[in-house]
Amino acid sequence: MSKVVDAFMADVIAKNSTEPEFHQAVREVVESVMPVVEANPVYKQAKILERMVEPERVLMFRVPWVDDKGQVQVNRGFRIEMNSAIGPYKGGLRFHPSVNLGILKFLAFEQVFKNSLTTLPIGGGKGGADFDPKGKSDMEVMRFCQSFMSELFRHIGPNTDIPAGDIGVGGREIGYLFGQYKKLANEFTGVLTGKGLDWGGSLIRPEATGYGAVYFAEEMLNTRNDSIKGKTCTVSGSGNVAQYTAEKVLEIGGKVVTFSDSNGTIVDPGGIDSEKLAWIMELKNERRGRIREYTDKFKGTEYHEGKRPWFIKCDVAFPSATQNEIDVNDAKTLVDNGCYCVSEGANMPTSPEGVEVFLAAKIAYGPGKAANAGGVATSGLEMSQNAMHLHWSREEVDGRLHGIMKEIHRMCVEHGRDGDFIDYVKGANVAGFIKIADTMIAQGVV
Ligand code: NDP
Repeated sequence: MSKVVDAFMADVIAKNSTEPEFHQAVREVVESVMPVVEANPVYKQAKILERMVEPERVLMFRVPWVDDKGQVQVNRGFRIEMNSAIGPYKGGLRFHPSVNLGILKFLAFEQVFKNSLTTLPIGGGKGGADFDPKGKSDMEVMRFCQSFMSELFRHIGPNTDIPAGDIGVGGREIGYLFGQYKKLANEFTGVLTGKGLDWGGSLIRPEATGYGAVYFAEEMLNTRNDSIKGKTCTVSGSGNVAQYTAEKVLEIGGKVVTFSDSNGTIVDPGGIDSEKLAWIMELKNERRGRIREYTDKFKGTEYHEGKRPWFIKCDVAFPSATQNEIDVNDAKTLVDNGCYCVSEGANMPTSPEGVEVFLAAKIAYGPGKAANAGGVATSGLEMSQNAMHLHWSREEVDGRLHGIMKEIHRMCVEHGRDGDFIDYVKGANVAGFIKIADTMIAQGVV
């Protein structure tokens, strides 16, 4: 089988030679699903995998804007419309200096399988720009978002492509993007998710990715007659996903001991309780400060410049920052220190060698495309509410989110069980793949 995978990957690499993250994401899926493809000649004849790795459409565009000093700035904008077999393109926008075509293609590819797992009718896409909102004034962010949307608006729509937030795109950015879309399209419609509550947003959407990653971890632990209650948890990042992961862990009775950002990690051996978490939320969301400030505020805590949280002993780890933030050494350190559950809030946070360490150690390892699917699933619920002109209660949305995470877990178990062990990587990839592959066959060669 590995020869077939290598031959397939050689072609993908030759065609997309400068996109290592895309190769990594494709290889992981292809390794899981190639046995299914080989066993089903209909998938081979229809060249399903070859079609899946080719985006349906790639948009790349200039984003010129004027900064507060009156200087003209130019960024590059993207939207990858990857696969619309089971529904309109859906996936976030990332604003970060590291953004390039390969990173967005990896994210869009992952999104296709993730969205398939949510049980909702949504295809996969991703977009963004190499713009850094850090250090920019609100007015600069607004001018950038308006320029970005001035091009993007003609390609998206509530039944075509529905972007959302991701790294660097939170409520503020969604607001500016939505305002410009509404002005240009001259219609008020659910074209973006993650909107404010007063203008079409859904309760629980901000919380959904973090809550979902914790629900998924709890499901994984339940299969081992265990729970997060009383467990020590490490969390990386300090943005949207990290904050609500911590909130749900605390609610269930776990202990959160770390947070981080791209500069370093804070460790609080006594545990980050709800009051401290509220302070972090204010620091990151209102004052847009750095996580190191935590140690000035709370005594008995440590800051480790340039470090990620994985050297801290824990039972459960929640990577919630960015791709490839757990390398092979971090994975070994986690396992050696007794960590037996990893639930990925971030997208592809573990390197392939790190994933091998987790699978070899047979820990409960939930890959991002399953564990963090709660975010996009709740975006799907926001779309449903917009389409029906309804507003569901917090309990209703949270209940549906919880139900979807349980169903994703069930599908992973169905397709990933190997004796007593559950390979969630295989389970998520195969379950996501079959639904899209069968739909693509039903819809013909398009
Ligand atoms: P935010 O922008 O709110 O927060 C990102 C956090 O990660 C920040 O603390 C940031 O630190 C840190 N970070 C970003 N880049 C790096 C890096 N290169 N090295 C170390 N730390 C870094 O983003 P989200 O919380 O929304 O997203 C986090 C992850 O979750 C991403 O992988 C995203 O794709 C994924 N995700 C998000 C969903 C959502 O609903 N928001 C849905 C599904 C997945 P700093 O402030 O220093 O940049």
